[in-house]
Amino acid sequence: MTPFIIVAIDGGAASGKSSTARALSERFNLLHVDTGSFYRAISAELLRRKLTPDDLPAICAALPSIRLGTRVNGRTAHMEIDGRPIDAAEIRSQPVNETVARFAPIPELRAALLDYQRGQADVARSHGFRGLVMEGRDIGSKIFPDADLRFFLHADLEERAKRRRNEGLQDKVAERDILDNKRLLESAKGAIMIDSTNLTLEQVVEKISGIVAEKLK
Ligand code: C5P
Repeated sequence: MTPFIIVAIDGGAASGKSSTARALSERFNLLHVDTGSFYRAISAELLRRKLTPDDLPAICAALPSIRLGTRVNGRTAHMEIDGRPIDAAEIRSQPVNETVARFAPIPELRAALLDYQRGQADVARSHGFRGLVMEGRDIGSKIFPDADLRFFLHADLEERAKRRRNEGLQDKVAERDILDNKRLLESAKGAIMIDSTNLTLEQVVEKISGIVAEKLK
């Protein structure tokens, strides 16, 4: 039987995690799980409920009433909230960009997402995938510390800010990195470091694919 494989990719904002994870999912038939989109979806839902990251007691009271589900589309896991698919444009909007890294450190919110994220391995199995590739800030350190492979993607700040501008998105990459710093440092420990500053996406994918293929031998 082919072994089920878990690939963790952590890294800062706009470090190329999503494009790389998507390419790997295609190449190796892995479920692609973007946990940043989960934090964004919950932040969007809390904003919709008129809450800000400072409203701690109200956030803690709201969390148990947010029902999370998963819909698999192609090779990607999409979060559903209360049976509704999340709105891709809304979770990349400026209000979410500006608040997600302030909602994300709330321990109760992280705890609410822990089992949901680990449960994506069952989603991948039940849909017949060979494994999963999960990207975020704490995948190799907290969600799947025993992942078969753990990567950390790095790119210089200026290059990452440029990538976002080229995508036409307003995103304060440096500010989010400062807020995410503790988790970034932890997830980098013991991971295979890939510096993509001077590499094309294809080169990053080739590099990581070689390591994944070796592991699958
Ligand atoms: O990956 P992306 O940049 O879309 O993530 C948005 C935000 O979600 C991050 O800046 C971070 O604050 C939070 N996040 C996190 N842990 C993860 C994934 C994302 O705290 N595993």
